[in-house]
Amino acid sequence: MPSLVYDIAIIGAGASGLQLVFELTKANPEQKILLLDSGDRSPKSWCFWDNKKATCFPFLIEKSWDSMLYKTSKGESITSEINPLAYHYISSNHFFTYFFEEFIPTHPNITCMNAWVTNLVEMPTGVEIRCKSGDSFIALKVADSRPIKSSEDDLIFQHFSGKFIEFDEPILDDSTMTLMDFSLPASTREMSVFHYILPFSKTKALIETTIFTRLDYDKETYEGIWHSYMKLHYSNQKFNIHSEENGSIPMGKPFIKKEGSIFSIGAAGGNMKASTGYAFTRMHQDAINRAKNKVIHTPNRFHFYDSMLLKIMQKEMNKIPEVMDRLFDRVSTPLILRFLDDKTTLSQEIGLLSQLDIPLFLKHLLR
Ligand SMILES: Cc1cc2nc3c(=O)[nH]c(=O)nc-3n(C[C@H](O)[C@H](O)[C@H](O)COP(=O)(O)OP(=O)(O)OC[C@H]3O[C@@H](n4cnc5c(N)ncnc54)[C@H](O)[C@@H]3O)c2cc1C
Repeated sequence: MPSLVYDIAIIGAGASGLQLVFELTKANPEQKILLLDSGDRSPKSWCFWDNKKATCFPFLIEKSWDSMLYKTSKGESITSEINPLAYHYISSNHFFTYFFEEFIPTHPNITCMNAWVTNLVEMPTGVEIRCKSGDSFIALKVADSRPIKSSEDDLIFQHFSGKFIEFDEPILDDSTMTLMDFSLPASTREMSVFHYILPFSKTKALIETTIFTRLDYDKETYEGIWHSYMKLHYSNQKFNIHSEENGSIPMGKPFIKKEGSIFSIGAAGGNMKASTGYAFTRMHQDAINRAKNKVIHTPNRFHFYDSMLLKIMQKEMNKIPEVMDRLFDRVSTPLILRFLDDKTTLSQEIGLLSQLDIPLFLKHLLR
């Protein structure tokens, strides 16, 4: 039995695990923290909206946009200033480099190890963490970010297939990011397709095919859709592909959210908004609260709206472009963003929801 007892062990050095290490160390640099990770560093673009002067890792933000574009399924552009907010970008590479080369090496309270955790056993003296290698550790508390399956029986996924490209000519407007572009008619009854663009400069961008579906990840099909999109919008432009971002997230509640001496964090802790997949700022707020031992409950009505949106996405996949078109056409983008952040008032929510397809919402409300 290991003799060293850590104050807390964090399983997973991904977005949530590293945010928690940061906030716990800031709150109490004496805490002995064990960070265990399997070593997966697949690249991700972590984006979020926040005030222009962001509170969420402002020193790691690589690019911000004040303006957002939504393109309808009919090809109409809705561009909005999102003042006082901005859309911020942190690459996972930059985030990992900061933590593994700067933050962790300069904080001796953190022990970081490469390990595949297999089992957690609660004991009177703490929690025993067992690893595949045969090693085991003891900690008073464990924050666990290992993915867990969702309890939804009709689970849909958000699939990403993006490419970081560079055009020969300076053709991009790098002051506006594209949140959703439904202009390519690639959606079917089984998948709803849109494109997401982060223009980093006038020549460089991430252009990402994003798909809501319950089908398996299908790289070949997504590559085809990506090229069709490029043909539709950039047929005369030459570009080079530098790298890719691929991935999948379940859009549903996690199976069991643990609380107590072993608790769940990150996507596993329910910090990913089920209907959108955005998680970065939610995980940050969760880390701050946990470091201060504060528990904050989101008002129930936001869970209700989220599960309603999710139900519509699950049951009416082919209507997603139509629902989104109507939403962005009738409601201001900053209000939509605040609504998705659970930061609207009840009267704003009534105003917003009344602009939507009421019969469609009633149908799912009554189910
Ligand atoms: C391609 C992509 C793009 C995304 N973009 C955004 C975005 O722009 N904005 C946003 O808010 N959200 C985004 N998300 C969603 C979400 O923010 C990320 O998925 C985020 O990484 C979730 O954080 P996490 O800590 O829960 O999981 P992860 O970051 O995946 O971290 C979990 C860690 O646990 C480790 N691990 C797993 N099992 C074990 C084990 N048994 N033992 C030890 N370690 C283990 C893994 O190696 C990993 O490092 C994106 C997701 C994807 C896939």
